[in-house]
Amino acid sequence: MNMQKPVITKLSQEVINQIAAGEVVERPSSVVKELVDNSIDAQASKIHIKIKNGGIDSIEISDNGIGIPKENIASVFDSHTTSKIKDIEDLNTLLSMGFRGEALSTITSVSRVHLASKYEGDDIANEIYFDEKGKSSVKKTAKEQGTTVRVENIFYNIPARKKYLKTAQTEYRKIYELLTNYFLIYPNIHFILEKDGKVIEDLPEILNNVAGEISLERVKGILGDSSNFLKLNYNGSGLQISGYIAHPSSHSTRQSRSYIFVNNRPISDRGIVRAVYEGYSRYLPFGQKVDFVVSLNINPELVDVNVHPRKEEVRFENPFRIYSAVEEAVRHTLEKELSFKNTSTDFSSLRNGFKKESTGIKEYKPINIYTSNKSTSVKDTLLFSKELLKDSPPLEQEEFPWDEDRDVSNIFQIFNKYIVVEFRDDNLWIVDQHAAAERVTFEKLLKGKTSMDIQNYLVPIEIELRKDETIFLDEHTEFFKDLGILYEIKDGTILLMSSPVEFSHADFKKVFEEIFALEENISQLEKNFKKLRDDVLATISCHNSIRSGQALDKKTMLDLFDKLSKCDNPYSCPHGRPAVWKLTLSQIDSNFERTY
Ligand code: ADP
Ligand code: MG
Repeated sequence: MNMQKPVITKLSQEVINQIAAGEVVERPSSVVKELVDNSIDAQASKIHIKIKNGGIDSIEISDNGIGIPKENIASVFDSHTTSKIKDIEDLNTLLSMGFRGEALSTITSVSRVHLASKYEGDDIANEIYFDEKGKSSVKKTAKEQGTTVRVENIFYNIPARKKYLKTAQTEYRKIYELLTNYFLIYPNIHFILEKDGKVIEDLPEILNNVAGEISLERVKGILGDSSNFLKLNYNGSGLQISGYIAHPSSHSTRQSRSYIFVNNRPISDRGIVRAVYEGYSRYLPFGQKVDFVVSLNINPELVDVNVHPRKEEVRFENPFRIYSAVEEAVRHTLEKELSFKNTSTDFSSLRNGFKKESTGIKEYKPINIYTSNKSTSVKDTLLFSKELLKDSPPLEQEEFPWDEDRDVSNIFQIFNKYIVVEFRDDNLWIVDQHAAAERVTFEKLLKGKTSMDIQNYLVPIEIELRKDETIFLDEHTEFFKDLGILYEIKDGTILLMSSPVEFSHADFKKVFEEIFALEENISQLEKNFKKLRDDVLATISCHNSIRSGQALDKKTMLDLFDKLSKCDNPYSCPHGRPAVWKLTLSQIDSNFERTY
């Protein structure tokens, strides 16, 4: 390690006043935070945390960092001693965790503390105690390089505060929640967490990862393996954004687990949370939550980290810029990763369903929902098939224009509303037919009229709208013409000449009225029309010809499904509601408590 030998100095009274420190030690988790921060500042690559009885009895943190020189050991417990800053100027550019020089002194004032440390330049380790009798003398001890701090009996001398501690389980949960932040943002540090003598987490360092570089392995370790996480990446001037966001299909109404870091410091910031959800907007139903880990790296001069006593919030010099960058980063990731063309997504199997040529071993499977289940034995299958064949006619092969290369083994409609698709690889999809059609139409509209079949009306359709609305449409004929919606205005009446075939039965008076309803009034709409383009297209696509409640023939279902599979974002309709619900056979089995 090539750190300068730390020198401990006493801060001037002026600086002490400048640093209006809040409460440092509120509960066991605050002790853990201060001690882990110190270990990180000491450049530890391994931190071992031992918690007893929720930290109420004991918290012990060992690191392999630089250590504390013998001559400094006696003064680390004194208030406002720090090796990290000298004046207030340093506060603005400081990237280190601790800097008030009062954590250890505050901790010793509310608990018994033992500290042992071996500085990298010293031959021998030293230890010191602090208890109700005060500071002990410094003694030699045996220890490998690094520092171990043990904090026992928190608030033993302040019963009023001890009373306010929650149960050991709750205090432990708070410690664990705090530590997850460190686990995520420091993939370069090996963490071991022990609870009452049992190892709960042992997270080896991820090789070649630096602090602040979120690793998928840690994300999965902390947030769970089940969601499919998408990598976030943004690099603008003075700002880098990295992290992982959950696949939109993992959404739920429950509170999400979200982590935000600024310069490796966990913070909470509603603006950033809002920006993340803005980025998700067309991919997520309203009010639904997802998990995410977002790490911002920003020039320290553009962010004030001293607005909160425990440094849990920050103030950005230009918050709007930060928020729009976050939104853009999220949207970009979703657009890139969820595109159907990206075969690494969940949809790859779906895509294969439409592939003509199959790779791998050809295996003939009759299109029969009863025989494709792997879990039935050959004998069962045979019996079952014979049984079926006895009184059922041969399967509707011709009606089912798929060859055996396809991964899809069945498709049918339920409730005149949903299309059920069974895949050979034990997946089942339930598709909302209207949402799917909306999505398909929306993406066609996005691409413009060249991607659509346009129909001319034999007799123009007359539409009467309010005067200001009619004027607005007159101004925007080009916009609609690009979508294949062609009209003329004669004596204040709109004469619709043509529209894409998807809208052959659409009521365009309604379509226009819904577009006008997007804003409070016409001038507002006029002002925001460019920005609202996607919303306008979403509104129009809602009027496509496939409705909910409509019976569909197989050809239409196949056609719709084929088109959906080619969409950039087949997961949701343009309003953000889900278009597809994916179920696996194992999910269905587990619902029936079947283990085979
Ligand atoms: P601060 O971290 O704000 O400087 P603390 O009271 O937390 O104040 O720590 C006081 C000093 O003790 C630190 O500045 C540092 O020099 C030393 N120190 C504390 N913990 C460690 C550790 N784990 N490894 C090395 N030095 C430490
Ligand atoms: Mg500190």
